[in-house]
Amino acid sequence: MGEKVGFIGLGIMGAAMARNLLKAGFELGVWNRTAAKAEALGQEGATVAESPAALAAASDVVVICVSDTPDVEEVLLGAGGAAEGLRPGSLVVDCSTISPSQTRAFAVRLAEQGVSMLDAPVSGGSEGAARGTLSIMVGGEADQVERAMPILEAMGKSIIHVGPSGAGQMVKLVNQILVVNSMMAVGEAFLFAQAGGLDLEKTLQAVEGGAAGSWTLTNRGPQIIHRDWRPGFMIDLQEKDLRLILQAADEMGIPLPASALIFQLYRSLQTLGYGREGNHALIKALEHLSGVETGHADGE
Ligand code: NAP
Repeated sequence: MGEKVGFIGLGIMGAAMARNLLKAGFELGVWNRTAAKAEALGQEGATVAESPAALAAASDVVVICVSDTPDVEEVLLGAGGAAEGLRPGSLVVDCSTISPSQTRAFAVRLAEQGVSMLDAPVSGGSEGAARGTLSIMVGGEADQVERAMPILEAMGKSIIHVGPSGAGQMVKLVNQILVVNSMMAVGEAFLFAQAGGLDLEKTLQAVEGGAAGSWTLTNRGPQIIHRDWRPGFMIDLQEKDLRLILQAADEMGIPLPASALIFQLYRSLQTLGYGREGNHALIKALEHLSGVETGHADGE
């Protein structure tokens, strides 16, 4: 049978991705820092491990999906981390969105113990994770990408090997520049429509099929209209990705004026206590600036 897979990080994305691995028939082990989040997958057939090290010792391929760069470092290289259990010849596939330069450093560190690493960040939101239709941008050696392909195909639909180690994370940041600028455009458009007294539902219907249509508009527009701020992708993580974008741009010495502005707006939303709301709540920053409230909560 196929390779044994261990999955670290059962958050919004990781739990759904791990579930798709189970459905595809992989023998699956799981570990999550907050143990309660592993229970459901345990009942569905996954083996729940005691630590990342124990999980890695029982796996051929370890998939990681945690929040930020220091978190990947902790579950991989910290005390009781996966590196303590990884055998030579095993593979780490990091699906978190983290620093490209740190990713390269982690891959070099693992290579010292004969372990390969791919960066395989994902896009497509919680919906894409649940449906197994994520876009996955992969950096690393071609033979390891081929090896990981059955695993990646169980979680995603578009899997593109974009270059060597770190390139997957760089492309993911390209993706995030597109996402945040699109979110900003949607926010300004809805604020303008609201201030102009337009019917937001009809406005959305009228524009989403034309040149202005986008994934952001179709998926998050209705949520904005209903003031439904439940996260597909949390503001805290969006702020993190913008920070990674601006750090990488700084390393390259290029200006990104629009992304820098949007970073400040997400920062202000965190300060106001909205960090765990969805990234479409960006419009709340514009509402604070304008005094205009958009849409209507359900029941109103
Ligand atoms: P989430 O729901 O907040 O889950 C985060 C996961 O990481 C949880 O399992 C959490 O464990 C774990 N974690 C965080 N810090 C840790 C640490 N120091 N040690 C051990 N475990 C740690 O976030 P998510 O939305 O699933 O996002 C996960 C990754 O996918 C992020 O890099 C994000 O940028 C990326 N991503 C998310 C989306 C999306 O739409 N949500 C889309 C594309 C990419 P606990 O349960 O113990 O907190």
